[in-house]
Amino acid sequence: MRTLRADESGLAEAVSLLRAGDLVAIPTETVYGLAGDGRSADAVARIFAAKQRPTFDPLILHLPASWKTDFESRSVVDLQGLHPTDANLARALAAKFWPGPLTLVLPRHPSVPDLVTSGLDSVAVRVPAHPTAQELLERFGGPLAAPSANRFGRISPTHAAHVIQELSGRAAAVIDGGPCAIGLESTVIRPTGRAGEWQLLRPGALPREAIEALLGAPLIEPPPSGRSSPGLAQPSPGLIETHYAPSKPLELLVGAGAHDWACALADHEGAALLFFSDASRDRALAGAEITRPCRVLSPTGSDVEAARNLFSALRELDASPAPSLLAELPLGTQGLIPAIRDRLERAGCRYPTSTGGTP
Ligand code: AMP
Ligand code: MG
Repeated sequence: MRTLRADESGLAEAVSLLRAGDLVAIPTETVYGLAGDGRSADAVARIFAAKQRPTFDPLILHLPASWKTDFESRSVVDLQGLHPTDANLARALAAKFWPGPLTLVLPRHPSVPDLVTSGLDSVAVRVPAHPTAQELLERFGGPLAAPSANRFGRISPTHAAHVIQELSGRAAAVIDGGPCAIGLESTVIRPTGRAGEWQLLRPGALPREAIEALLGAPLIEPPPSGRSSPGLAQPSPGLIETHYAPSKPLELLVGAGAHDWACALADHEGAALLFFSDASRDRALAGAEITRPCRVLSPTGSDVEAARNLFSALRELDASPAPSLLAELPLGTQGLIPAIRDRLERAGCRYPTSTGGTP
């Protein structure tokens, strides 16, 4: 896999590879994506093969920013299939949150390859905010399918080096755009079919509060993990129970005090530790000397900083000599905390604490 610079010649090379049906990993503000021509069934098939991703998991199409105001006339979505209230809400959501980490699942245009949508009658679309992704999309002039550039089920890449670890030999190139600014996947929503009612399919980098403020109504909760639900024909990657996973066992402690942590440390000799903040680490360790690998997601407890560091911290601890990982599952419902909790819960399982593992 070649590493391309995010400059004139790197972008020109990436566009010619994409036009030839090859795959190029690209930086976005969420995570690195493995991009292929979203109008080519062959290129999309290569994405599934490179990621070893089951074909029942639909992909997100990334659109050029210049399509933001007329995305409905680009043969990708078909807003005629929606109630007029929802068509207007889709336009308003795009106008307010694109470019950015919001994915809209909308009725598909018939020309979208079946493989992109896993045969569903809907397609997921977003306009990414990363300047390199935008420049590339503008030059490519069409939609790019771009799921996270990792092998299926594993930790999402937030640096070009992670992509090389994951997909070396499986894609033509990666464009090095530096670390991802947000570090968590987009928030995915769809209209339910009842006018004005939208559902959260995956919590993500755009906090649900911001979406609910625009909709003027609460989002319906996501369908249960790993199972089909009416209208959502198959589970999709963000909904599969085990995902974003390190290769070593990961146990999660939620609402745990110093006593629970002492038990967990004794149970898991040498386990690497992951804490949300300096304050929660100090509370958990209660002054105990620690010689094992240990990472704090955000010293000050910022959800934004924690999100940015989550996947690289998991990856670093997974690569350490520690035999397993113990992580704090942060409490809270605001901002990016629900998305951080969602990713950790899919990456590991609960350690039984004295509170029974519930907050
Ligand atoms: P990823 O490409 O790994 O970021 O994941 C794509 C996400 O988009 C999945 O988790 C799904 O939740 C969602 N998605 C994509 N297409 C559809 C669709 N047609 N219907 C429902 N969800 C979709
Ligand atoms: Mg993914």
